[in-house]
Amino acid sequence: MTIQWFPGHMAKARRQVTENLKLVDIVFELIDARLPMSSRNPMLDDIIHQKKRLLILNKADMADETQTKRWIQFFEEKGHKAVAVNSLDSKGLKRVTKAAEDVLAEKWDRMRKKGLKPRAIRAMIVGIPNVGKSTMINRLAKKNIARTGNMPGVTKSQQWIKVGKELELLDTPGILWPKFEDQRVGAKLAVTGAIKDAIMNMDDLAIFGLNFLETYYPQRLHERYQIEGLTDPIVGTFDHIGKLRNIKMSGGDIDYSMVSELIVRDIRNEHLGKLTFDFVEDYE
Ligand code: GDP
Repeated sequence: MTIQWFPGHMAKARRQVTENLKLVDIVFELIDARLPMSSRNPMLDDIIHQKKRLLILNKADMADETQTKRWIQFFEEKGHKAVAVNSLDSKGLKRVTKAAEDVLAEKWDRMRKKGLKPRAIRAMIVGIPNVGKSTMINRLAKKNIARTGNMPGVTKSQQWIKVGKELELLDTPGILWPKFEDQRVGAKLAVTGAIKDAIMNMDDLAIFGLNFLETYYPQRLHERYQIEGLTDPIVGTFDHIGKLRNIKMSGGDIDYSMVSELIVRDIRNEHLGKLTFDFVEDYE
């Protein structure tokens, strides 16, 4: 799904998150494990204020595991509980419930001490488009969708999904807009396929990808394309990859736009391995 973000859309999205916030105990902020910073919208802090939050690094199956561990530690040092999951794997999602219980443990203890019966935790998912919100909701839902009758503030079209006894999830996720005022952030979102909008042309994306890989994952570049570092000017590297893969036009010249597409596709399809594009070091 491609969403063009205009001020009106942003205001509406913000309003929806704000309204649903009243119904829940905790917000699940879904982020892309390959882009733990670039796939967040810092505005969420203003929107959710003091509401408890769990950070969920989704698509962890596609990210660099070492970096994922460091990011979890980074977020926890900042006071946010974080878990890494793959939403395509229902079993691993059990960790989400457990983590939510941890975040709310104190509050639930206080309730228990007051003699209140513990109830299921109510949660909502928020995140930028394409981060995996629907996938996660569907996997968690299985068949346990409960019709909401008379819950205050819940519109008829909204439902709570029961996830075991411990968790109830609002079936409509909150959509945040990606923030790509910073060119690098936009490039990272685009090269991973986290956003589908053509905010950059393929050649620029491929060049961005190659430069990124040379800096952070030179070995992968070597293994995939048999190159030691990039050429200056970069066209030499394109020539090399084009010849290696035999990407030529009918006259025999290298088809550079096809080479660009190949590089970007290789990155998105994990042919260069599991990659993380935000490095903790750059944010400390
Ligand atoms: P939404 O826009 O946030 O609701 O995102 P979707 O749920 O539609 O997911 C976008 C794409 O990411 C789909 O192609 C999903 O199959 C894929 N996806 C979602 N979660 C994961 C995950 O944990 N791992 C992988 N590899 N793909 C995922």
